[in-house]
Amino acid sequence: MLNIVLFGPPGAGKGTQSKKIIQKYNLIHIATGDLFRLHLSNNTSLGIRAKEYMNKGNLVPDNIVINMVEDKINNSNNVEGFIFDGFPRTINQATALDKMLEIKNIPIKQMLALKVEEEELIRRIKNRAKTSGRLDDQSEEKINNRIQVYNNETKPVANYYKEHDKFSEINGIGGITEIFDELCSIIDNL
Ligand code: AMP
Repeated sequence: MLNIVLFGPPGAGKGTQSKKIIQKYNLIHIATGDLFRLHLSNNTSLGIRAKEYMNKGNLVPDNIVINMVEDKINNSNNVEGFIFDGFPRTINQATALDKMLEIKNIPIKQMLALKVEEEELIRRIKNRAKTSGRLDDQSEEKINNRIQVYNNETKPVANYYKEHDKFSEINGIGGITEIFDELCSIIDNL
């Protein structure tokens, strides 16, 4: 079982690279941001609860995110592995994920972290805003808040995986194929 956490700040290219990785390795994509957006567009009670946090660029409370991920894992059968994209974003989420996977004896193999400087992130998100339709991409204030939230609450999650010897960092600046090839060369050696 190939379970991977694809990590990085907003705009690092996690979504783009995940799509390529799931195709090549036949993995299930668990992207919590996408799942929340789906709930939002379907107007579910979960979507309504998540909305106020998402639109400000703040994190949705851990218990809501963790339950949603657990459901998704439990409803996926006969899988070759999962790629987690945008999750875990707090240490609490990381320990909860470990517990969920431990019970099933399918631990995370590696965190792959995309490294991109802040200026480039802001440039990419502003560009994405033209087509994404995402409210949280639309204002500089919201973009900056998401980067702040990443620095304060999410970055420490990398240390958690470093401490468990499950951390690799990749340069997230360059061509999509070039970055993908680098990710694959790490995955192939796991
Ligand atoms: P993303 O598409 O990953 O940028 O996520 C969009 C928004 O969804 C985030 O700014 C948060 O409000 C919410 N979100 C997504 N994943 C998580 C998570 N793991 N923990 C808390 N909030 C999340």
